[in-house]
Amino acid sequence: MSLEPSYFSLNTQEWHRRVDEAYQRMQPCHLCPRRCGVARLEGETGVCGVGREAELSSFGPHFGEESPLVGKHGSGTLFMSRCNLKCVFCQNYDISHLGYGSPVLPEQLADVMLKLQERRCHNINIVTPTHVVPQILEALRIAVDAGLRIPLVYNCGGYESLETLKLLDGIVDIYMPDFKYSDALIGERLSGVRNYPEVAKACLKEMHRQVGDLQMDSRGVAYRGLLVRHLILPEDLAGTREVLRFLAKEISPQTYVNIMAQYHPAYQASHHPELRRRITRQEYSHALQIAQEVGLMR
Ligand code: SF4
Repeated sequence: MSLEPSYFSLNTQEWHRRVDEAYQRMQPCHLCPRRCGVARLEGETGVCGVGREAELSSFGPHFGEESPLVGKHGSGTLFMSRCNLKCVFCQNYDISHLGYGSPVLPEQLADVMLKLQERRCHNINIVTPTHVVPQILEALRIAVDAGLRIPLVYNCGGYESLETLKLLDGIVDIYMPDFKYSDALIGERLSGVRNYPEVAKACLKEMHRQVGDLQMDSRGVAYRGLLVRHLILPEDLAGTREVLRFLAKEISPQTYVNIMAQYHPAYQASHHPELRRRITRQEYSHALQIAQEVGLMR
């Protein structure tokens, strides 16, 4: 299999079509399942709070991501400001909720991507891309014309529109979604969306259809595939068994899953008594045991 990024095979006409269609989805905005319907090209904002211009909080080689993304030289990470989810315990709330960051043009984003490649990062890792897909696609097209050759990582919360994801088919090589909860009522209470599990399941299936299981090169660096994150919450609020069962049985037993133990009460977590503590060692071991029981191999 070729290790060249998928976007490299897209012709100019197809790039234009994808970028144009993505921008059309911003007015009225139905880029994500919230379908706010606002005129973002005219500067209106919906739930995510971003209008016409994408906003960038920070960027750089990141060594704290999953090891298949980090390799030796780091994952070339761009933290986009704001988010379409409103998680009360958001671990990056200053960026996602408070909106730390500045407006950035696609040309500037392209420049950042090329700089990260120059620094020998193994990929371009866009954190929270859902609400700025058009601007990212436009930036990527400019960067590819100027010599970008490393894979794109779509690092999201798992609450995506299938139609928007289809615009990324053949462009994104690595999907890294969260799968946060398996109970819709908890998703509504903690992230402000009514149908999180249903949407996340459909998205994960589409992502896996596009890129398959995670594949790595001889250095152990990922170049294509699906990598799922699941943050364990206190009192099993995340519904870990059903999340892991779904991944093993309805995606693939080879799904690469990062079961994360680093939850700490942040942002508005203190308003929810069950979220006021970290998870215990037992809760973490239990989640790993479930992964084995349901047949996840990675
Ligand atoms: S991207 Fe933002 S404005 Fe558009 S539908 Fe989603 S939350 Fe609403």
